[in-house]
Amino acid sequence: MTLPLQARVVIVGGGIAGCSTAYHLAKLGITDVLLLEQGKLTSGTTWHAAGLVGQMRPNRTMTGMSRYGIELYATLEQETGLATGWKQCGSVNVASTPERMKVLKKQLALARSFGVECQEVSPREAGELYPVMRTDDLQGALWLPGDGKANPADLCMSLAKGARLRGVTIVEDTEVTGVLSGNGRVRGVRTAQGDVACEALVNCGGQWARQFGALAGVNVPLYSAEHFYVVTGKIDGVHPMLPVMRDPDGFIYYKEEVGGLVMGGFEPKAKPWKMDPIPSTFQFQLLDEDWDQFEVLMTNAMHRTPCLQTAEIKMLLNGPESFTPDGNFILGEAPELRNYFVCAGFNSAGIANSGGAGRLIAEWIAGGEPSTDVWDVDIRRFGAFTGNRKALAERTGETLGLHYAMRWPRQELETARPLRTSPLYDMLAAKGAEFGSKNGWERANYFRRGGAMRPPHTLGAPGWLPWMVEEQEATREAVAIFDQTSFAKLLLQGRDALAVLQRLCANEMDAPVHKMVYTPMLNARGGIESDLTVTRLAADRFLVVTGSAQATRDADWITRNIREDEHALLTDVSALTCVLSVMGPKSRELLARVSPDDLSPGALKFSWTKEIDLGHARVRAARMSYVGGPGFELYVPVEMTRHVYLALQEAGAGLGLRDAGYYAIDALRIEQGRRAWGAELGPDESPWEAGLAFSVRMDKPSEFTGREALLAARAQPLRKKLVTLVLQDARAYAWGGESILLDGATAGEISSAGFSPLANACVALGYVRGAGAQSVHSGTDAAIDLWGKRVAVKLYDSWPPR
Ligand SMILES: Cc1cc2nc3c(=O)[nH]c(=O)nc-3n(C[C@H](O)[C@H](O)[C@H](O)COP(=O)(O)OP(=O)(O)OC[C@H]3O[C@@H](n4cnc5c(N)ncnc54)[C@H](O)[C@@H]3O)c2cc1C
Repeated sequence: MTLPLQARVVIVGGGIAGCSTAYHLAKLGITDVLLLEQGKLTSGTTWHAAGLVGQMRPNRTMTGMSRYGIELYATLEQETGLATGWKQCGSVNVASTPERMKVLKKQLALARSFGVECQEVSPREAGELYPVMRTDDLQGALWLPGDGKANPADLCMSLAKGARLRGVTIVEDTEVTGVLSGNGRVRGVRTAQGDVACEALVNCGGQWARQFGALAGVNVPLYSAEHFYVVTGKIDGVHPMLPVMRDPDGFIYYKEEVGGLVMGGFEPKAKPWKMDPIPSTFQFQLLDEDWDQFEVLMTNAMHRTPCLQTAEIKMLLNGPESFTPDGNFILGEAPELRNYFVCAGFNSAGIANSGGAGRLIAEWIAGGEPSTDVWDVDIRRFGAFTGNRKALAERTGETLGLHYAMRWPRQELETARPLRTSPLYDMLAAKGAEFGSKNGWERANYFRRGGAMRPPHTLGAPGWLPWMVEEQEATREAVAIFDQTSFAKLLLQGRDALAVLQRLCANEMDAPVHKMVYTPMLNARGGIESDLTVTRLAADRFLVVTGSAQATRDADWITRNIREDEHALLTDVSALTCVLSVMGPKSRELLARVSPDDLSPGALKFSWTKEIDLGHARVRAARMSYVGGPGFELYVPVEMTRHVYLALQEAGAGLGLRDAGYYAIDALRIEQGRRAWGAELGPDESPWEAGLAFSVRMDKPSEFTGREALLAARAQPLRKKLVTLVLQDARAYAWGGESILLDGATAGEISSAGFSPLANACVALGYVRGAGAQSVHSGTDAAIDLWGKRVAVKLYDSWPPR
């Protein structure tokens, strides 16, 4: 077939992601779409997927996305006339350890909160649902009647037909070999059959998406792993409506197929497929069997379903699938090139997720921005460094197994670390720092004391709690030093820098030089795209400081909103400056010992900064505190950070100075009701809902993005409201993600939780949704579901009550 000379959107890749994207673009009325596939439709990874389709995801938005996919799969055949193999057979998820059962109970509470039908069932009932399973060693199970299975290739072809029926052109046997761009935008694609001009491109290249992205300088950090399942002959008692079964403690899953079982899983140590580049001729192909790699899954399966000990094994399928550094897929417009979209990296859940992901990316293309909060899967969560192939291969060996591994609260990934480190890293490590990683940055979470080892993971009160409490007490009663170097720092400069900020920020940004302003940046829906502090360094120069995870995202948001005729340039200067936060009532006394400059409240008011001498260094001191209470953030040139830290340590003798970490920061800020972007704040939360009205200046002279939406929302009742929750049982330890119950009914979820010495209990933040948002007042009685048990809480508008 000859290619058209142009199309509005070109989709690269004819797997389920590409076909779903095409289908949804067409459904939104964008029909001038050309899908190019180097082989045949489904010939990449889609054709050999097992086809399990589950609804539950870790949060509300992503669960909504999966549920939409299931609704679509259930009705697609009627629409297109092409069978999808969809069967709503339900799924049984079993637990064989008490801890796993607690995790399932948390999922049950969340499922109810998200509107997913879900029941707890006994081992006996699980056995009735899944008769070929051994149940004598089970703790219990969850039953999700709405889950199901599909035939991946048929489903993909049905989506393709739906797209074609609406006008999409699909061309097979056409490899896209290059991307044409100009002026920072996609202009077209190159193929052996000629160039095709386009306004937008969607990289749905599956495991090829990274190498295809690299053709245009776009980072798509994914890497393939060998991925396995066995297919058996017919087994007695196995029928087409037998539920899907997952035994995460055994790392395995099952699905019925032609009267037999498909059994696969997620072995704890996976095998990256070190093929670089992946040839374009790898179509309808598989990799060699590897029974050694599969052994752990087979052993566990023969235990769980003894019928496998004698069943005929027809084949051990080994097909490569792409995995990402955090186990979530990759969606969105690439920060490197405008109108270059990505929908790839599905971590062995592409059949389940593509229905929803295709719709999200289509909405993003059509609307110019995402329709909802997609941060979990947003391509901008990855910095350029994540494209390193050695790191990707090592991480893929880890993330595949995370699917079914017991995930403990605050568990850190271990591969490809340490990578980004502050100059204090080795010194803090020698002092017992236990590090976590955020956007590649190593950050001290807490400091072990007395040469103790890292305490084991737990669902209850953690072993590090006493150490963290000491760090909290030092912050509240003496002085603590936090290395917050991982903060993202963006320098915005130019004649129109102020105008850009005034338009993007809801607060008044025309502040005097040296003043720091806390502000949200809003989208047109009035949702919070970011919250950040901006220090005016000069009339035309501003230092934007934002969360460690959001460097790429916020830089992208700001730069894409600089108009062509505006003179403003943004530079990521994160790695030039370290941040040492000196917090606590004795912080001023400590700084007075190392600096001759006047830091008294009269000389440096709250939210102001000034350049000071510190030891032999020059640093910028800001009177600012995220943890609450008195304190200073010190912005220190990287090369002087060691000197400054040592000077502070030496001067701190006798003041009770303590090194403290991010767990203390988090618990302290929650105690003070400080919000965090990604937890309490996001594109779906307005400043009204988040209780950030103080940071919005509706009356500022210049118009700002989101103002209209805020004005409209102000006239309406709140859809949800952020509250502080104080647990009434001092022994109960909450971690975040628990559901909130108001009068016994689910009303929302906890966004962050931490221990508060002030309350002598855990304190949490969370949104109460719907009617409850109106009725909550300070002191309202409520409950949370903590690992399946009700724990009484009191709700407050703000806490501690003032
Ligand atoms: C063993 C196994 C079991 C699985 N089980 C399940 C399951 O039970 N449930 C589930 O949800 N998921 C499952 N998956 C995962 C699922 O198969 C994938 O996530 C999904 O198929 C990915 O779809 P995709 O469209 O992103 O990729 P693909 O299907 O690989 O499609 C990408 C396409 O892009 C094409 N392409 C690449 N580069 C170019 C180019 N330059 N020009 C033109 N075309 C190009 C390729 O040829 C390919 O056809 C499983 C995967 C495996 C390996």
